[in-house]
Amino acid sequence: MRNPETIESIVAWLREDDPEKIESLRGRADELRRDALGGAVHLRGLIEISNYCVRQCAYCGIRAANSKIPRYRMTRDEVLDCVGKADSLKYGSVVLQSGEDDKIDPEWIADVVRTIKAKYPLAVTLSLGECPTEHYRLWKENGADRYLLKFETGDIELYNRIHPPRSGRPSDRVAILRELREIGYQIGGGIMVGLPGQTYASAARDIKLFAELDLDMLSAGPYIPHPDTPLGDEFLLDKNPTGDQIPNSGAVTLKIMALARIFCPQANMPVTTALATKATDGYLEGLRWGANVIMPNITPVKYRRLYEIYPDAINKDVEDVHNGIARIIEKAGRTIAAGPGHRIVKGE
Ligand code: SAH
Repeated sequence: MRNPETIESIVAWLREDDPEKIESLRGRADELRRDALGGAVHLRGLIEISNYCVRQCAYCGIRAANSKIPRYRMTRDEVLDCVGKADSLKYGSVVLQSGEDDKIDPEWIADVVRTIKAKYPLAVTLSLGECPTEHYRLWKENGADRYLLKFETGDIELYNRIHPPRSGRPSDRVAILRELREIGYQIGGGIMVGLPGQTYASAARDIKLFAELDLDMLSAGPYIPHPDTPLGDEFLLDKNPTGDQIPNSGAVTLKIMALARIFCPQANMPVTTALATKATDGYLEGLRWGANVIMPNITPVKYRRLYEIYPDAINKDVEDVHNGIARIIEKAGRTIAAGPGHRIVKGE
């Protein structure tokens, strides 16, 4: 296959429509994944601890201005209950995620992390958005292992247009990721694919940025319009006079995953829930296109349906979600990994 080195060659792959060539891209990514990471699939239990958010991200259903959703914060006991479930399902790690909720006491997070680490052999990932450096440090000191902060798009102009910053503080997620690494976290970044205004070339640059940042975890998920947001109008995606707009399709997302695997053979890469929502067989396909991680959502259903970042049909309980995912992993000829699933760095 043509080597995807330059931005132009990556764009050519993203636009490629010959099924045989596309299959060669998938095959290469799958082989690299197998050689670097083997067949094991790591399961990370996702717990959505609060849907309060002070931000106004133009695509996100839990943005501050969306008054249609009731807001919730889980209690300490509720969070620890979910963690216990993750442990009994033999997951290797949990991810605590929320909107940017300024009313959560950072000491409360520190206590929850410390409690989890004392009680379970789990890795703890935090995904709480942009926070003061001293909070990141506090949580690290209390045992947090990883921080997940997607930069969504590396196109600064597009990024700024859809992410109004907090007052007095610019939103520079790439800089924050570097800072998190400095503090000692394993870092996870990622993008959405098909944001209105996002071009093929900009997505190609994002793939190179994954490699440049040497991310421990990376992801690409299709953008899914949410009707109660400024970007939620599906027709925005049809405004594409120059033909440069990258679609928000499952097919192009899978190609980005394969290319990301080629650029970052050892990174942990989940199949995003957005891909599983958007594409039939999204989890299975994601595993065939370079992914080695799935993040089953273990938030109680009554809260999960309120954490509606994009429209989603949610009615399955934790065991159903888990059993469905376990069957898919088996169908893919893969196994469920044991242990926390830290990033493997060959040669170290
Ligand atoms: N507040 C945290 C978590 C945000 S929600 C933070 O800012 O990091 C987690 C991820 O969901 C986001 O990073 C984004 O990539 C994705 N997301 C949000 N809205 C979406 C949408 N409409 N379509 C697809 N993915 C979306």
